[in-house]
Amino acid sequence: MRRCHGALPVLLALPVLGAGPNGDWVYTKTPGTPSNRADQLESWSEFHTCIEGRSQSPIDIVTADAAPAAEALDGAIVPRLETVPILPWNTGHGFQLHETNPEHFQVIANGTGTTEEPTGLSKGYTLMHGDQYNFYQVHWHTPSENTIDGAHFPLEAHFVHQLNGSTGYTNLAVIAVLYELQEDCSDFLGDFWGYFPLAEEDNDNLASIPDRVVDLQGMLETAVPGGYYHWSGSLTTPPCTEGVTWVLLKTRLGVCQRQVDKLASALSTTQHGVRVNNRMTQPLNQRVVTQTAPEDALLSPYGIAFYSLLGFFWFFLLLLLGVACCRRRSSPNTKLFEAEMGVPELGMAKADGAKAAVRCGPEEEGREHNGHL
Ligand SMILES: [Zn+2]
Repeated sequence: MRRCHGALPVLLALPVLGAGPNGDWVYTKTPGTPSNRADQLESWSEFHTCIEGRSQSPIDIVTADAAPAAEALDGAIVPRLETVPILPWNTGHGFQLHETNPEHFQVIANGTGTTEEPTGLSKGYTLMHGDQYNFYQVHWHTPSENTIDGAHFPLEAHFVHQLNGSTGYTNLAVIAVLYELQEDCSDFLGDFWGYFPLAEEDNDNLASIPDRVVDLQGMLETAVPGGYYHWSGSLTTPPCTEGVTWVLLKTRLGVCQRQVDKLASALSTTQHGVRVNNRMTQPLNQRVVTQTAPEDALLSPYGIAFYSLLGFFWFFLLLLLGVACCRRRSSPNTKLFEAEMGVPELGMAKADGAKAAVRCGPEEEGREHNGHL
């Protein structure tokens, strides 16, 4: 049973994790098994874009093929999420904080059950290249939907945004964060993970949970400086609408097995024994994945030019010192050598020190020290 949505006239019909119109698409038909490509193709077949789309998500990121961005991406992502009371609910296909809606809602108990009411609070936004993308909700997938060089991660978070003023499925943006397994459970997830209902029916109890706030801003602020991959993709659930801006942060967060297991158990309850909610990776086709820092500083056209010039500078400096070293060693008269090079005494002393360290081998150094030049 889903919560009453009668109070949400502007709620987007955006099933980022929710069921499709007929509610029967699946990740796999066999309980307890990984996601299955054939089962997804069959059960998602009525959604034309899911099958025919050429810019679908998720993808496998081949890190060696990730191109430096054509324009500077460093500093282009600036999260400004607000700390507001959480709304942790079970969509039937996963855990989600908040509704897919520009407004912030809370569950309120009434005489016959519960309803959702807007609070007037802002959930905040993220600036992307200076454009304001309003934050709607964050939800989780296990295992990760996007993969890195073919490898899955135990958990992936999707922070769903939409460009300010846009409606429907237009101008959506997702900031994705990957989690790695660790011994200790995540304190960040621990702040609210326990409040997610294990079954959709339990969403009716959300009105009874205490007010709880989570520092989503702190999490993104921690991870954004590590850089990210960027590409154009789609929703990863039907109707697989394309034109979604994807940003996958390179910094990974930690999660323990127990926290992953809670999501898997909830999925099993709502998906008839299926414990996963990842769509299979999709062909990249014509798309290019770009990336930013830290590699971006070295791989950008400016970076390549800078380091090339630096390399030439050191090459000629060492060449000059090497010539000075050999010329001086071949002459019994240092004064004559200095005269030939036109180098004053102080300058020559510096060159001597440098050539001993750079060009002269141990044997030559020894000869020089023994006065056999
Ligand atoms: Zn997602």
